Amino acid sequence: MAQSEIDLSKYFPTTLLIKKVESIKEEIHIFIKSLTQSQTCPSCKQECNEYHSTYRRKIQDLPILGKTVIIQLTAYRYYCHNSKCEQKVFCETVDNFFEFYKRMTERLENFLIALALNTSCEGAARVCQLLGIKISGDTLIRKVIRKASEMEPVKTDFIGVDDWAYKKGSTYGTIIVDGRTHKPIDLLDGRDGKTLKEWLKQNQQVKIVTRDRASAYASAISEILPQAMQIADRFHLHQNLLVAIKNVTAQEIPAKVKIMQNSEQKAVEHVKQEKKTKKRKAKNFP
Ligand SMILES: [Zn+2]
Repeated sequence: MAQSEIDLSKYFPTTLLIKKVESIKEEIHIFIKSLTQSQTCPSCKQECNEYHSTYRRKIQDLPILGKTVIIQLTAYRYYCHNSKCEQKVFCETVDNFFEFYKRMTERLENFLIALALNTSCEGAARVCQLLGIKISGDTLIRKVIRKASEMEPVKTDFIGVDDWAYKKGSTYGTIIVDGRTHKPIDLLDGRDGKTLKEWLKQNQQVKIVTRDRASAYASAISEILPQAMQIADRFHLHQNLLVAIKNVTAQEIPAKVKIMQNSEQKAVEHVKQEKKTKKRKAKNFP
C-alpha cells in the first residue's frame, strides 16, 4: 500500500508543537504542546515571560475526512509582575488560533458562523453532524449572536438585506451584508422591518439596497431612506419566478397523473377505436 506522510505542523501556528496524533473512538486526537516563552498580559498589555504552571484543555478543530478532530493542548499560565495590574496570573492564548476560554479553534468557529449565516443554525448543526463537527443548534445560535455583537460597525453606502433563520419556521432575523465585500456587517432581530428602520436611521449614508421582494423591507427603506435605490436581487427574482410557475402548474395539472402500462394503453385505444367505428356506422346507417 502506498504510504504518504503529511506534515500536519504546516497547518498550525509555529508556537505549537505536535507531539503525537492518535485515532480514538472515531475521533482524531492531536496532542500539542505550547512553545511560547512570553505572552502579553490581557489586562495591562505588558510582556510577561515567567511561567506560572501548565494546563491542559481539549479544543475542537476542523474535521478531517468526516472525523471529529480534538486538539489536546498543553499550554502555559503566566505571571504578570506589573504591580499596578490586578491580573496576577493569566492563561495564554494563540492569536488567530484559539482563545483560552473557548472550546474550539477560531478557524472552526469562523466556518460554523459562515455556514449558519448561509443556511440556518438548525440546518448548519445537522450538516455539522454529517461532517464530524460536534455542536448543537442552540450553541450555534449563541455563537452567531455573540459574533454579531462583536462585529465592527461598517459605514457603507451599498448594502444587501435579507431574512435569516435562527430556527427555520420559528425564529427569524435580518442580516445586513456589505454590498461590496459580501461580508455580514450586522444581524437584527425579527424580519418585519422594525429593526431595519432603526438601523437605517443610524446609517443614513446608504444609497443602494439589494433586498428580497418582501414588502416589509421595501416599505422600511422607502420610509427612512426614500432617495435610496432599491434593487430586487437576481436570486430572489428567480425564487419568485419559480414560486409563480409552481402555483400555475399546481392549478393546471392534477396532483396525480396516472402513467398507463402498455396493455392498459392498448385497451384504452381499442375502446376509443370501437367508439369511433360505432359513431361512423351510426352516421352512415341512421
Ligand atoms: Zn498585567
